[in-house]
Amino acid sequence: MTHVGAQGGPQPKEWISAIAPYVPGKAADASGRPVAKLSANENPLGTGEAARAAFARASADLATYPDPGAALLRQAIAAQYGLEPARVIYGTGSDELLHIAASAYAGPGDEIIHVRYGFSVYEIAARRVGAVPVVAADKDYGTDVDAILACVTDKTRVVFVANPNNPTGTFSPRAEIARLHAALRPDILLVIDQAYAEYLEPEEDDGALALAESEPNVLVTRTFSKIHGLAAERIGWGYASAQIVEALHRIRAPFNITSAGQAAAAAAIADTAWVEASRAHNRIWRDYLCNEVTALGNCGLSHVPSSANFVLVRFAGALSAQTAFEGLMEAGYATRWLPGQGLPDALRITIGTEEQMRDVARLLREMATRA
Ligand SMILES: *Cc1c(COP(=O)(O)O)cnc(C)c1O
Repeated sequence: MTHVGAQGGPQPKEWISAIAPYVPGKAADASGRPVAKLSANENPLGTGEAARAAFARASADLATYPDPGAALLRQAIAAQYGLEPARVIYGTGSDELLHIAASAYAGPGDEIIHVRYGFSVYEIAARRVGAVPVVAADKDYGTDVDAILACVTDKTRVVFVANPNNPTGTFSPRAEIARLHAALRPDILLVIDQAYAEYLEPEEDDGALALAESEPNVLVTRTFSKIHGLAAERIGWGYASAQIVEALHRIRAPFNITSAGQAAAAAAIADTAWVEASRAHNRIWRDYLCNEVTALGNCGLSHVPSSANFVLVRFAGALSAQTAFEGLMEAGYATRWLPGQGLPDALRITIGTEEQMRDVARLLREMATRA
């Protein structure tokens, strides 16, 4: 039997080979020892009781395909935010929605804009369809509307913006989002990724859902993976014009969200008490961590202002981000060190439990003062 080497086998398209695979947050150290995961922005309080109960009920039937139209989930989402159920789209995580948005509106030779310190899936989504990812410079780690607009060309088809942004935690207020939308050609799809919107205070609404309600070229994406504590079930949702939603339905995977996941998500979105408790916990321990980092300013530590459930901590003194990353890992905490995303001097730390945050702050203090 002759062995067919890689040379003779099928070759991926060159734009697929150019993709650097997504790097998930670590849950174990190099030796495989499990560590506390402050690396994936999950809810440290877990999942609410209503969602867990709905999940348990729906998981009794494993033999039947899920509702392909996710009717109950769309109704629950629409009721929560005053939206039209028919214009709610759903995906296997909001990741699927980001990918199908790129596929529906861009192809080889087209351009897709995202910010420099942005969510790494945008670049993957652009490359996957053969489009060119175009990187807009940041302003103090945050989204710079003028820099994005300066990147627009005849070939621009999609603009991805996360608000709050990941991995920086920065937030663009309503007026900036409105200014970005107003200056974009109407044939460009503006995707506003609101994976962390539930962590904002109600008065901080960036107006994205209202834009998606009235404008033909805005897609808002949300997720059940973060504040709703359902990351294991992979459910995201989006809102846009009927035309955009119709295009996305054509290419989403059939039966893309599970039965138990749909039931759990519908219960989770109605459980406003759980969402508020999670937001309140996050606010308290984010403030705590930020204050602790600020107190280490004389050791070169600082943080980027965060509106999300994580903080980007910068290391400009004797203690490097890499050493802090390794020291925290050694002590049992996985954080995100992001040299691959152009942030070798920073760690992204998810807001965890009170105990975890006190311990992480103590470890940072000890490492910084010892360095
Ligand atoms: C976590 C995250 C998502 C959500 O991913 P899911 O696929 O819904 O789990 C989307 N965008 C950003 C910016 C994120 O950080």
